[in-house]
Amino acid sequence: VKQKGKDGWHFFSASLEEKVRQKLSISNGLRLAIERDELSVCFQPIVDTHSTHIVGAEMLLRWQPPEGPISPAIFIPIAEMTGSIIPIGAWVFAQACRAEADWRQRWGEQAPGYISVNVSARQLNDNTLLSVVQELVKTHASDPSRILLEITETALMADIDTNLRMLCSLADLGFRVAIDDFGTGYSSLAQLTKLPVNVLKIDRAFVDGLENQAESRAVVKAVIGLGRALGLKMVAEGVENSAQLLELRNFGCDYIQGYYFYRPLTEKNFIDAVDQDIKA
Ligand code: C2E
Ligand code: CA
Ligand code: CA
Ligand code: CA
Repeated sequence: VKQKGKDGWHFFSASLEEKVRQKLSISNGLRLAIERDELSVCFQPIVDTHSTHIVGAEMLLRWQPPEGPISPAIFIPIAEMTGSIIPIGAWVFAQACRAEADWRQRWGEQAPGYISVNVSARQLNDNTLLSVVQELVKTHASDPSRILLEITETALMADIDTNLRMLCSLADLGFRVAIDDFGTGYSSLAQLTKLPVNVLKIDRAFVDGLENQAESRAVVKAVIGLGRALGLKMVAEGVENSAQLLELRNFGCDYIQGYYFYRPLTEKNFIDAVDQDIKA
């Protein structure tokens, strides 16, 4: 390393050091995020492909430390690595249970059908998870059948035995299960039928390719056909224009999530959007 030009070495060392420092500061910050009240959730509506009415929402975590907001795409992997995802995930679960009960009270039968919650594999590995969620369901008097747990295909398949066991226990409690970012991992047909899965979410990367990539089109079409044949609800994520919507409609996709309809909203704006949608 020392043989390298002084500037080059300094540059390399500084940027590496900077990266380590950033990760360390994020992991330290995350440990205090709950007690400092820096976490919040937003809700991205999910609509019916045909009626375009709101059928549910995905709950997305937001972290706003004093230095400014940090993307979950950055802090979630760090929280998974350090273990902070366990208390943070419990906090997220509490929000979901609270919101589910609130909405059902607010809108009754007309309430959007479900709340989607992202769950890390690290949480499924934690044997306190079951008792924690059972307690939360009781405290908030929430209906777990209206809470959909999203686990990414890659995380699910990385340790299929452990994850399958935990997902079955959660399904026994009444929770629904979705495979997130579907198409990016390698689950087999045989595995899919063994899993307690209700919903497949087609990864945004395939939706992106719908218009001009023949391969993406073929994958999306086949995956929708496969999912429906297995009796699953199909959700396409990252839909940003009407061309994508029309294709997905033709392929028989049940639900749509994406900026074309709604961006992630604050809970207040989500409530307004549903009120408008119910009137429409
Ligand atoms: P994800 O689960 O795949 O969530 C969908 C992401 O796509 C969200 O990003 C959402 O804002 C974004 N998105 C939705 N529609 C569109 C669209 O039309 N175009 C584009 N370009 N993007 C769209 P977000 O909120 O930044 O979250 C990123 C990831 O962080 C999530 O990906 C999820 O893996 C993770 N995450 C978020 N909240 C939680 C949480 O509470 N727990 C865990 N474990 N992970 C979370
Ligand atoms: Ca998700
Ligand atoms: Ca996703
Ligand atoms: Ca994703």
